[in-house]
Amino acid sequence: MDDCIFCKIVRGEIPSKKVYEDEDAYAFHDINPAAPVHLLLIPKLHIDSLASADPRHTELLGKLLLIVPKLAKQHGLDTGFKTAIHTGRDGGQVVFHLHLHILGGGKISHI
Ligand code: 5GP
Ligand code: ZN
Repeated sequence: MDDCIFCKIVRGEIPSKKVYEDEDAYAFHDINPAAPVHLLLIPKLHIDSLASADPRHTELLGKLLLIVPKLAKQHGLDTGFKTAIHTGRDGGQVVFHLHLHILGGGKISHI
């Protein structure tokens, strides 16, 4: 996707504070952190949102979920962390490239 900001981040066209990369996934610090640690984990493949995911993405989605605790551990979130996926306008999604928020490092709101 040419004009997607997260695709641009993956391509290095927009700078980011990268914390992880492999052939399928990329993670970086959120530019406007809502917690002491606030990471975004994205598939390199452009998928608009969780609502656009389909069974072809099963392995990719599973892989992303398994990266989450590794990143949390690397950032010292030993007492816990929160993972969130906003989906669609009414779900609070602003950037329409599927992403997982990883939040921790302090008391995190319950919902
Ligand atoms: P959403 O509400 O779509 O789930 O969250 C999008 C997140 O992306 C927000 O927390 C926002 O701060 C973050 N964000 C938006 N643009 C950029 C950017 O250019 N760089 C980084 N690092 N984060 C961004
Ligand atoms: Zn994208």
